[in-house]
Amino acid sequence: MSQKRSELLLVVEDDARISNFLSYALAQEGFPVLTSDTAQGALSLLVSQPVDLMLLDLGLPDADGMDVIKRVREWSELPIIVVSARDQDREKAAALDAGADDYLTKPFSATELMARIRVAIRHLYRESSGRHQAVAEVGGLKIDLDRRLVFLEDAEVHLTPMEYSLLAVLFQNIGKVLTTGALIRELYGPGYGNDTQALRTLMAGLRRKVEANPAKPRYILTEIGVGYRLVDE
Ligand code: CA
Repeated sequence: MSQKRSELLLVVEDDARISNFLSYALAQEGFPVLTSDTAQGALSLLVSQPVDLMLLDLGLPDADGMDVIKRVREWSELPIIVVSARDQDREKAAALDAGADDYLTKPFSATELMARIRVAIRHLYRESSGRHQAVAEVGGLKIDLDRRLVFLEDAEVHLTPMEYSLLAVLFQNIGKVLTTGALIRELYGPGYGNDTQALRTLMAGLRRKVEANPAKPRYILTEIGVGYRLVDE
């Protein structure tokens, strides 16, 4: 038996099979779950119930899920995980840029689902406590954010200031996907537009220094058509 969880989850999905699968998998993990098959129903629940996290299908019968994200972000920082079809890379990136925290690509397993939810809940508590984690690590890769130092298997890695900034942003969002657009805005400022080449070059340089095999990265994964994710082990 799984332990009872206190976080209230909202599943917004009009495909009954997927909605049932999500509700069942989440209930198995002990989460109380609310469901809605429309955007309007979801918004009503969000204003009347203490929802902690929302799983959101983008193709809803009464509205585009993107509009739900934008509406919710007017008043809430609630974690939103988008449930999306495989061929909708541009839509995934747009949803993340509109304020979604992550996405799941259909079809997905209960294991993937729980991994995404764990990351979102951890970020929720970290952000609400305002705690700044000075040292973070994943596998053999470690960053000291106060001293601006990076170590790989305990040996110091010398990064350029931009490579360091890129890695620091990834560590601050560990386990979450960051869109190419969001990373460019964060690193180069809003005036830089969508020039992905600079970011790709920077990423290649960073991977050469922190990945044993940059062609098969272990830490910084490419989310094709969307962006990058630092794994959360
Ligand atoms: Ca749908």
